[in-house]
Amino acid sequence: MVKFGTSGIRGRFGEEVDANLAARLGQAIGKRGAKAVIGRDTRTSGVILENALASGIISVGGDVIRIGIAPTPTVALAAKRLGASGVMITASHNPPEYNGFKFFNSSGNEIGKEEEARIEEKIGEGRKFEVKWEEMGEEVRDRTAVSEHIKLALGLVDVALIRKKRPKVVVDCGNGAASVIMPYALREAGCRVVAVNAEPSGLFARGLEPNLENLRETAAIVRAVGADLGIAHDGDADRAVIIDENGELLGLDAQLALVCGEELGRKKGTVVTTIEASMAVKEAIEKNGGKFFITKVGSVHVAREMERLKAVFGGEPCGEYIFSGGVPVPDGILTGLEFVELFCRKGKLGALKERVRIYPMKRAKYPAKDKNAAMRKIAPEIKKAFKGKVFDEDGVRVDFEGGWLLVRASGTEPIVRITVEHKDLRTMEALFAKAAEIARRFV
Ligand code: MG
Repeated sequence: MVKFGTSGIRGRFGEEVDANLAARLGQAIGKRGAKAVIGRDTRTSGVILENALASGIISVGGDVIRIGIAPTPTVALAAKRLGASGVMITASHNPPEYNGFKFFNSSGNEIGKEEEARIEEKIGEGRKFEVKWEEMGEEVRDRTAVSEHIKLALGLVDVALIRKKRPKVVVDCGNGAASVIMPYALREAGCRVVAVNAEPSGLFARGLEPNLENLRETAAIVRAVGADLGIAHDGDADRAVIIDENGELLGLDAQLALVCGEELGRKKGTVVTTIEASMAVKEAIEKNGGKFFITKVGSVHVAREMERLKAVFGGEPCGEYIFSGGVPVPDGILTGLEFVELFCRKGKLGALKERVRIYPMKRAKYPAKDKNAAMRKIAPEIKKAFKGKVFDEDGVRVDFEGGWLLVRASGTEPIVRITVEHKDLRTMEALFAKAAEIARRFV
């Protein structure tokens, strides 16, 4: 039985995800006379899934536009541009033995829960190859998707300024989808580029999660070559992690705070983030004249609220940023370029990072047999115990003077998580103890 997770379908190739599933997915989403764009990251199983998916779509009369290896936002943009649905074959930052699918509609938005349920149901029906030979779909290859994405991204940053400053940038593509676009985008923008792990081979030289542990060598290269900054991507390049001139990661909170300031510098308005956002992010938004708005975890929710509120920017603390004027999905390519521009305009990122105030924060997780049942009991108790502004559409977050706390069931693991942040360390510890005591009673 196929199941959508928090971001499309994902699993081990040959187990949860295989060619048979891909073909059935193709039949579920294919429609006579309708077009579907297919892209993939560099995983070795990607070509198998791409072929099977395309076969499924064509077999029910749908047309396929193949764009080959490309980042997730590139696929979303191609879908929007070509008036087609879109499928990205990727497992994002998961290890190489994993793969999966993300689905987009013709506005470039990731599909919602209702559409996912419709696909699940169709696959359950076990549809057969239905159309006759003269009704089958066609396929074409489109080689413009990457250049169109570069064009869009360069149209949103100050290329004249970047060309004047000619910053030296190390880009670590993680041997993923960024390999086919980011070194070229940076060069075209006017950077001096040192590209590492930029062979799109599907043989990964580092772990695909762009975190401290996986980026040690890249950080050392940033220092060794005297680069102004480093940019590192996950497997499908919807994320970018930034390394400063000292070879240190900016850190996800400081990174999000800086990009919020940058976007509000262009245009004032609402910034959408999630319930996991720290005070550094809130302060950056308010200090720069923006309105802080939080929603549920997940880029689909961020994109939806951005559209509803006509927001100027949407960013999740995990490093997924959606730019207004760009595609309505997280875009690691544009993220990298925005930080290049930030460096060109304001100087060393290491110094800018120091100006972002990071407050005492504590996170802990509690194993729960039934995390959702536990949360139903925990949430009312938290609301009783802590007075403040409550957001309870996804766990429960309470904002109060000097800090906030969040109690939430994990989207993927059988655990309940508590996060507490406060300007004062001792108050933070006390608030944390109080919340933990409530959680422990019900997990
Ligand atoms: Mg990703």
